[in-house]
Amino acid sequence: MSTNTPSPSTEPDSPADPSDAISVAQRTDVETAVPAEAPVYRCDYCGRPFATESYRTLHHGLAHEGVLTDEGREAFEAAYEDENASLRRFRIIALGLLVLLYFGFLFVFAVVT
Ligand SMILES: [Zn+2]
Repeated sequence: MSTNTPSPSTEPDSPADPSDAISVAQRTDVETAVPAEAPVYRCDYCGRPFATESYRTLHHGLAHEGVLTDEGREAFEAAYEDENASLRRFRIIALGLLVLLYFGFLFVFAVVT
Protein backbone atom coordinates (compact mmCIF):
# COMPACT_ATOMS: atom_id res chain seq x y z
CA MET A 1 0.00 0.00 0.00
CA SER A 2 1.27 3.41 -0.88
CA THR A 3 0.56 6.06 1.70
CA ASN A 4 1.58 9.58 2.38
CA THR A 5 1.12 11.43 5.61
CA PRO A 6 0.52 15.13 5.38
CA SER A 7 3.54 17.30 5.69
CA PRO A 8 3.62 20.98 6.50
CA SER A 9 3.08 22.94 3.34
CA THR A 10 5.55 25.63 2.40
CA GLU A 11 3.01 27.33 0.19
CA PRO A 12 1.00 30.28 1.41
CA ASP A 13 -2.50 29.51 2.54
CA SER A 14 -4.57 31.47 0.07
CA PRO A 15 -8.08 30.14 -0.46
CA ALA A 16 -9.94 31.53 -3.44
CA ASP A 17 -12.69 32.87 -1.23
CA PRO A 18 -11.51 34.55 2.00
CA SER A 19 -14.88 33.85 3.62
CA ASP A 20 -14.35 30.14 3.03
CA ALA A 21 -14.45 28.56 6.49
CA ILE A 22 -12.21 25.64 5.50
CA SER A 23 -8.72 26.66 4.45
CA VAL A 24 -6.80 25.06 1.61
CA ALA A 25 -4.45 23.41 4.11
CA GLN A 26 -7.39 21.82 5.93
CA ARG A 27 -8.89 20.57 2.67
CA THR A 28 -5.66 19.06 1.35
CA ASP A 29 -3.88 17.86 4.53
CA VAL A 30 -5.55 14.47 4.66
CA GLU A 31 -3.84 11.13 4.43
CA THR A 32 -4.26 9.47 1.05
CA ALA A 33 -3.70 5.80 0.32
CA VAL A 34 -3.88 3.61 -2.76
CA PRO A 35 -4.10 -0.20 -2.67
CA ALA A 36 -0.82 -1.91 -3.61
CA GLU A 37 -2.07 -3.51 -6.83
CA ALA A 38 -3.94 -0.43 -8.06
CA PRO A 39 -2.37 2.18 -10.34
CA VAL A 40 -0.98 5.15 -8.44
CA TYR A 41 -1.12 8.73 -9.70
CA ARG A 42 1.49 10.71 -7.78
CA CYS A 43 1.41 14.46 -7.39
CA ASP A 44 4.14 16.06 -9.50
CA TYR A 45 4.89 18.58 -6.74
CA CYS A 46 4.60 16.77 -3.38
CA GLY A 47 4.48 13.07 -4.30
CA ARG A 48 1.15 12.35 -2.60
CA PRO A 49 -0.54 9.23 -4.09
CA PHE A 50 -4.03 9.33 -5.62
CA ALA A 51 -6.26 6.57 -6.94
CA THR A 52 -7.41 8.43 -10.05
CA GLU A 53 -5.94 11.02 -12.35
CA SER A 54 -8.94 13.25 -11.69
CA TYR A 55 -8.24 13.31 -7.94
CA ARG A 56 -4.62 14.25 -8.64
CA THR A 57 -5.70 17.02 -11.00
CA LEU A 58 -8.09 18.39 -8.37
CA HIS A 59 -5.28 18.23 -5.78
CA HIS A 60 -2.97 20.15 -8.11
CA GLY A 61 -5.51 22.95 -8.40
CA LEU A 62 -6.29 23.12 -4.68
CA ALA A 63 -2.85 22.60 -3.13
CA HIS A 64 -0.46 23.85 -5.79
CA GLU A 65 -2.46 26.64 -7.38
CA GLY A 66 0.47 29.05 -7.42
CA VAL A 67 2.80 26.85 -9.44
CA LEU A 68 0.31 25.41 -11.94
CA THR A 69 0.94 25.82 -15.65
CA ASP A 70 -1.82 27.07 -17.94
CA GLU A 71 -2.38 23.50 -19.12
CA GLY A 72 -2.61 22.30 -15.51
CA ARG A 73 -5.03 25.08 -14.65
CA GLU A 74 -7.27 24.18 -17.60
CA ALA A 75 -7.19 20.50 -16.56
CA PHE A 76 -8.09 21.52 -12.99
CA GLU A 77 -11.01 23.65 -14.17
CA ALA A 78 -12.32 20.79 -16.33
CA ALA A 79 -11.97 18.29 -13.45
CA TYR A 80 -13.61 20.80 -11.08
CA GLU A 81 -16.58 21.20 -13.44
CA ASP A 82 -16.92 17.41 -13.75
CA GLU A 83 -16.82 17.07 -9.96
CA ASN A 84 -19.45 19.80 -9.56
CA ALA A 85 -21.69 18.13 -12.15
CA SER A 86 -21.40 14.82 -10.28
CA LEU A 87 -22.23 16.51 -6.98
CA ARG A 88 -25.23 18.28 -8.51
CA ARG A 89 -26.50 14.97 -9.91
CA PHE A 90 -26.02 13.26 -6.53
CA ARG A 91 -27.92 16.03 -4.72
CA ILE A 92 -30.85 15.81 -7.15
CA ILE A 93 -31.00 12.01 -6.81
CA ALA A 94 -30.74 12.23 -2.99
CA LEU A 95 -33.51 14.85 -2.89
CA GLY A 96 -35.71 12.68 -5.13
CA LEU A 97 -35.17 9.67 -2.89
CA LEU A 98 -36.02 11.71 0.21
CA VAL A 99 -39.24 12.95 -1.39
CA LEU A 100 -40.16 9.40 -2.41
CA LEU A 101 -39.42 8.11 1.08
CA TYR A 102 -41.43 10.92 2.68
CA PHE A 103 -44.51 10.39 0.52
CA GLY A 104 -44.11 6.61 0.74
CA PHE A 105 -44.31 6.76 4.53
CA LEU A 106 -47.13 9.33 4.28
CA PHE A 107 -49.23 7.02 2.08
CA VAL A 108 -48.47 4.00 4.27
CA PHE A 109 -49.51 6.03 7.32
CA ALA A 110 -52.73 7.14 5.54
CA VAL A 111 -53.60 3.57 4.54
CA VAL A 112 -52.76 1.93 7.87
CA THR A 113 -54.51 4.44 10.11
ZN1 LIG B 1 0.71 17.77 -4.25
